[in-house]
Amino acid sequence: MKFNKTPKTEEKEKHRHKSIRFSCIIEECVTNELAYNRYNASSLSGIIVTLCKVLTEDPTPLQKRALSYFRRNPVFNLLNDIEDVLDVKVVERYFEIFSDLFFFSSLKEHCEVNMSERQAVDVGHPGHCSPVRIERPRVSLQLAGMALQGHEHQEGVRITLYRRDMDSRSRQERLTMYLGTMLHEMVHAFLNLWACHSRKCRARSFEKIGEFDHGVAWQEIAHAVETAANSAELNLGLSLRRKSMLLSEVVKSKMELSEAIVLSEWGMDYAEVERELRSKKRSRHGEDVEERGRSRYRSRGNVDENAQAHEN
Ligand SMILES: [Zn+2]
Ligand SMILES: [Zn+2]
Repeated sequence: MKFNKTPKTEEKEKHRHKSIRFSCIIEECVTNELAYNRYNASSLSGIIVTLCKVLTEDPTPLQKRALSYFRRNPVFNLLNDIEDVLDVKVVERYFEIFSDLFFFSSLKEHCEVNMSERQAVDVGHPGHCSPVRIERPRVSLQLAGMALQGHEHQEGVRITLYRRDMDSRSRQERLTMYLGTMLHEMVHAFLNLWACHSRKCRARSFEKIGEFDHGVAWQEIAHAVETAANSAELNLGLSLRRKSMLLSEVVKSKMELSEAIVLSEWGMDYAEVERELRSKKRSRHGEDVEERGRSRYRSRGNVDENAQAHEN
């Protein structure tokens, strides 16, 4: 006799977190088996922190190949004055390299990067990461030795980078900004794809993903990949704007910064963060008072609506 599962049991099974063995990452047998939104954000950040550590000490075979490709190819050297390769092409190649070096190649098949024609100043933020359905070619059928191609849709994310007015800047300055933004968004993409977002395990709490996506898991991964990107091996000099994202997360989610969070582990000074937090809260309070005033006008139809900028 066959028993149908009750919806409750199914729900429970769906929520149970899966785990990733580090040996599978080293043996490169993990990426095909990854399941969407099934891993605890904290365990994912633990994996990336370890991967970034081994990158500089004892790289995995995949990291070794990526490092050797990085060193051999002059296009990756930001100091080289190569103006005949478009920035967007360099950024795309860096996406592949970053995916292999820091994210055990788990983003390549599930994430698209595009450079928008819109200016970051008009949009209000330099980059953006959003969920999409990605169409992938698939060999569906073998007929008399001929492979027939089909397509399949899979869950994915799209990273959008917005243009910055940088005509006067050097290639190194331009690419450093774009790559910093892209790596910031890649951390979001990674958590977006693989982390559990369920309320059942308080996944959106500050200790994990965070209400506004820059919680502890994001911070830990961002610190690890930024440190590795700026290490002697890569020497890229990137900024993922970690401190300003921390301040923004704490203020927007109206929480108090707990001393249990060891900011020095993220290269931040507690007293300095506290000070900046107080001043941000004060100015936000001022904005709120101003906003209440504006909304009184708005109800009379006197003020243009401005889209709220989402900080990334
Ligand atoms: Zn969960
Ligand atoms: Zn962000």
